[in-house]
Amino acid sequence: MAGPALEATRPGRRSRPKQPGGCGPAAMWRTDRELGTAFPCDGGLTLVLLMPPRERADAFRLDPEGEYDRTVTLMPGLAARIAGCTRATRIVQATDLPSYFRHSTGPGWAPAGDAGHFKDPVTAQGIRDALRFGRLLGEAAAPVLGNPERLDAATASWEHRRDHECRETYHWTNTLARSTAVTALEETLMRSMAARPEGSRPLLDVYSRIRRPSQLLTPTALATLLARTLTHPGVNRAAVLRTALTEARNQRTIRHDLRRR
Ligand SMILES: Cc1cc2nc3c(=O)[nH]c(=O)nc-3n(C[C@H](O)[C@H](O)[C@H](O)COP(=O)(O)OP(=O)(O)OC[C@H]3O[C@@H](n4cnc5c(N)ncnc54)[C@H](O)[C@@H]3O)c2cc1C
Repeated sequence: MAGPALEATRPGRRSRPKQPGGCGPAAMWRTDRELGTAFPCDGGLTLVLLMPPRERADAFRLDPEGEYDRTVTLMPGLAARIAGCTRATRIVQATDLPSYFRHSTGPGWAPAGDAGHFKDPVTAQGIRDALRFGRLLGEAAAPVLGNPERLDAATASWEHRRDHECRETYHWTNTLARSTAVTALEETLMRSMAARPEGSRPLLDVYSRIRRPSQLLTPTALATLLARTLTHPGVNRAAVLRTALTEARNQRTIRHDLRRR
């Protein structure tokens, strides 16, 4: 059985103009509550993805270009990356993208891809999961197509595997989709990764699904992060402790959900 549909707490808002001048690797910037990504594309274009807080949806609807430009300037790194570029396409927007697991099997049927399971695009996992579980569904169903009972057992087992493999990433995605401001803990995490020889590789491994989020942010890693953050000069310790407490509660809820079934 699939888990219940759990909604992302705050689906983001996106605008994606392509800009010529796509030098450099894909990169992401976070400033306060803003999140921006630059993806190099074919033909020297760069796809710019903005995920501002949802309450700016109306502002984007009323003045897409103005709001897009204003949002880019809020992220100096992104602004520098696309400085001198011209807009090559119109700005495309999407709002209200709730995440879900749908019950995805029945007698002789099983929907692959977004039809059965969707995550907020903030972690860019949808294509990977649609392809992976589409292939696995085909592999599970092909040998038993002529046997309805075995076919239903195979698709039920496929659905269970999809939910099992995707659930932690689903929770991680929902956490990132909240569009909360960058916290001191997050900043410490990013700075400590930047200082390591392997850089952000451990985080990229989570995006690549080589490593689970819980394997990156182990209780020991979180305790170290908290201790380091609290020793930063001028840090608001009460705010840091509040964030840590909220995150600990969030993680406990997630662990509880992951233990189900
Ligand atoms: C704004 C946004 C940004 C995203 N960014 C990323 C990203 O950066 N990276 C990533 O991995 N994923 C991203 N995703 C998610 C990704 O697009 C999906 O997870 C993926 O495309 C799912 O593939 P799919 O084949 O299930 O569905 P789709 O790609 O949606 O394909 C379904 C197709 O079926 C067609 N269709 C629907 N109904 C019918 C019908 N009745 N008859 C015939 N055809 C029909 C549709 O027109 C569509 O072409 C994003 C999603 C959104 C909404």
